[in-house]
Amino acid sequence: MESTYTLAGVMGWPVRHSRSPVIHGHWIREHGLKGDYVLLPVQPSHLHEALRGLQALGFAGCNLTIPHKVAALSMVDRVDPLAARIGAINTLVVKDGQLLGFNTDAEGYVQSLREAQPGWRADTGPHAGPVAVLGAGGAARAVLAVLGEQGAPEIRICNRSLDKAQALAAEFGAHYRGTRWLALPWDQRDAALEGCSQLVNTTSLGMTGQDALTLRLDALPRTALVCDVIYTPLETPLLAAARTRPGGQHVTVNGLGMLLYQARAAFQHWFGVLPEVTPALRRAVEATL
Ligand code: NDP
Repeated sequence: MESTYTLAGVMGWPVRHSRSPVIHGHWIREHGLKGDYVLLPVQPSHLHEALRGLQALGFAGCNLTIPHKVAALSMVDRVDPLAARIGAINTLVVKDGQLLGFNTDAEGYVQSLREAQPGWRADTGPHAGPVAVLGAGGAARAVLAVLGEQGAPEIRICNRSLDKAQALAAEFGAHYRGTRWLALPWDQRDAALEGCSQLVNTTSLGMTGQDALTLRLDALPRTALVCDVIYTPLETPLLAAARTRPGGQHVTVNGLGMLLYQARAAFQHWFGVLPEVTPALRRAVEATL
């Protein structure tokens, strides 16, 4: 049977820097599918019109990136419960004339952890303990949802704007009641690492072109996983410091896995195939970083 043509893309502003066309284009070719994945530069003031035009333009759906992930929540016909809890949509599916909103960033984060630590769970095993999360923006929301879903015993959110950390602790705490949610001021970030089984940087500090993240790892147990959602550079100064810490190195996880696995889950929504994250795909994406 001849396969049908499928069109998808990524909507953002700006969106030129997105690596998603490389990832989805790789899978379209690998699976011999008929389809395209294109860049959709859409200004915030045009988001509603652009979303309503997707069906007429023949799109199976699209990814949403900065700055549309939160605004789209009120513009779609149905929101998946996990996306509603995260408070952001990164994947849209056009189905029977309706726009359905999903969030695959959380799936991306959990799969990236399990790639580094097979069988990772937040509630049992060697990584069941308090988790320190630096940042309270969009990326933090997906990470917090994973940790909440997984039943992490305690989550310490540390953010430059304390009010945002407090708001997230209250919002997620109302849903994930088995977890102890704490909001801490930014100047307590070194002390917040005490006894943690995982540290996650979700701020943009350490990204190419941004200021470095200043953090002392002394209080962090050596068994803790150290994660950074940033993927440019692949090894941030935080991950480099954790990987080479004198007296015992941490297992580190960079943001590339989260990027690739969120894309994998989105691809399945549109193309009906669950593709693999292969070394060849990683090389193709890394060549663009
Ligand atoms: P947001 O703008 O939503 O959040 C940025 C966060 O960084 C906020 O907590 C902000 O604090 C903090 N921050 C920014 N500048 C400073 C500073 N100078 N000092 C202290 N804190 C600071 O961005 P996102 O959450 O969308 O993205 C954050 C990072 O995550 C980016 O590098 C992005 O590329 C990456 N990312 C990676 C993904 C992946 O798939 N691997 C997916 C999504 C994002 P405050 O609240 O005080 O402003």
